This record gives sequence, structure tokens and C-alpha cells, in this order.
Amino acid sequence: MDLLNTPAALRIQCRQWRKQGHSIALVPTMGFLHAGHMSLIDEARKRADKLVVSVFVNPTQFGPNEDLDRYPRDLPRDLKLAEEHGADAVFAPEPGAMYEPDHATWVEVPELAKGLCGASRPIHFRGVCTVVLKLLNLVQPDVAVFGQKDWQQLAILKRMARDLNLDAELVGMPIFREADGLAMSSRNVYLTGDERARVPAIRQGLLLMQQRVKDGETDAEQLGLMFRRHIADTLPDARIDYAAFVHPESMAPVARVDKATLLAVAVFIGKVRLIDNILLEG
Ligand code: AMP
Repeated sequence: MDLLNTPAALRIQCRQWRKQGHSIALVPTMGFLHAGHMSLIDEARKRADKLVVSVFVNPTQFGPNEDLDRYPRDLPRDLKLAEEHGADAVFAPEPGAMYEPDHATWVEVPELAKGLCGASRPIHFRGVCTVVLKLLNLVQPDVAVFGQKDWQQLAILKRMARDLNLDAELVGMPIFREADGLAMSSRNVYLTGDERARVPAIRQGLLLMQQRVKDGETDAEQLGLMFRRHIADTLPDARIDYAAFVHPESMAPVARVDKATLLAVAVFIGKVRLIDNILLEG
């Protein structure tokens, strides 16, 4: 497995593979890899001859008061895991290699980014779209694999790919969870032991909403109140950033859960912000 640190080295390697007739899969990550990432990597491994995993804590998707500096990092461990799971190359550039000091071009999908995570993280998706487009341009993969844990991100990237006629197929993988239901996330390491023991209540709240919908409740406002009550009862110290019922592709809010609807939530436990979601069939 090769470790590549510059966009030029990545481009040259991928160009050579394509010339040899190989297909290429890309899995973009911010590293500190966990089993959720590995499920993406394993899927990507099956879908192409050559597999590139990027490990880049992208500064442009972090707001000024966010956790860029303390975001967990462990490149040696990531390299080992990526190699064990069949990656042909890991691309791990320094921020200075990805962004010129006078970088001035941004990609945005404002219509899909104005709610949910985009409402509390205004520049986040602009940074995500820009870095993913840069990676897609460098690698020119046949397929790129993402997680449905970041459902809004995936919806935005798919819209970007469609609108800009990108060649790569964008694939979304189901949320990979701990045994107690907590969605795996690099940020879970921020949780204290006590918080960690209690946060599966978020997933339980999503499952409760699924049951209520199965029982016939379709009023998104009522369901939202029920979710809030569940969190207040089970995680009294938590603060709900949002709990939103939206169309799964357009991210537009819906009033009735009478067709496929995404319930997406973000919850603060102390300083840690956890996201999760569930597709309600309606
Ligand atoms: P990140 O390193 O957090 O930027 O995530 C890199 C990719 O892994 C994104 O496409 C995420 O949606 C995906 N991912 C992160 N956590 C999970 C999870 N628990 N299950 C599935 N995919 C995930």
C-alpha cells in the first residue's frame, strides 16, 4: 500500500492505474478510522480494482468555534487498518498541500444545506463539497463510497454530482452501530464514561418514532414533541440542536410522515454533538 501526501502524487498514481485499465474506488474520511469507516472501505474494495482511502481533517468544513484542533487523529493506526482492509493507497495530505493560501473557489448546494446541520454549521457543507470535488477530480474514481450517518452530506454530494455531471457513482452505506445502538463516530471518544452509557437513548428515540409511525401517527409536529419528551426523560442534560422530518432527497421539511421521510437529529451532550437518523417509511 502506498502513502501519498500530495495532490500531484495522487493524480499521477490514479492516472497510471486508469491507463492500465483499472477501475478505482474512493473512500473519503477524516481518519481515526472505526468500524463504520471499515464498512465503507470493504464495500469500496468489492467495487473496483484499485482502492484509495483519503485521511484528511479538512479545515474548511470546521467553523471557528468547532473542534478542528482537538479532532482525534492517529495516522499510523489508520494506515494499518486501511492496509488490512485492502486499500492500495492512502492519501493523507497536510492542509497546506490541499489549499493554496489564496484558495478562492467554493462549491455550494445552498438549497439542501440551509437546514439541519447546515443551520448550525453555516460553512460546513461548503467545505465538504469543495474538498470532495477536489478529491473526485484528483482520483477520477468510478465509485465513491459514503455513509448514511451523514445523510444530509450524502444528499448534498449526490446533488452536486448530478448538477455538475460528475462521472463517479456515489454510493451510500447504512449506519454502522455499536452493539447498544450508538452510531459509530470518531467523535464518540469525546464522551465521558457516564455520557457514553446513556447516549444510546438517541437511537432508542428514533426507534420509538418508527414505532409511532407504524402505529399510525403521521403528524411530524406531534412526533417531534414525542422525540423531545423522550430525550428530556432519558437524557435530561442533553440539548437538542434539531430533530427534523424532511424529504430524504430534497431535505425539505415535511408536515406529514405519509411517505418515505427522514428523521434526522443532532443532540449535544455537554460539548459533544452527536448526529443520527432513521428513514421512516410512512
Ligand atoms: P468522517 O471521517 O466522519 O468524515 O466520515 C467519513 C465517511 O464515513 C463519511 O461518508 C461518513 O458518513 C462515514 N461514516 C462515519 N461514521 C459512520 C457510521 N457509523 N456508519 C457508516 N458510515 C459512517
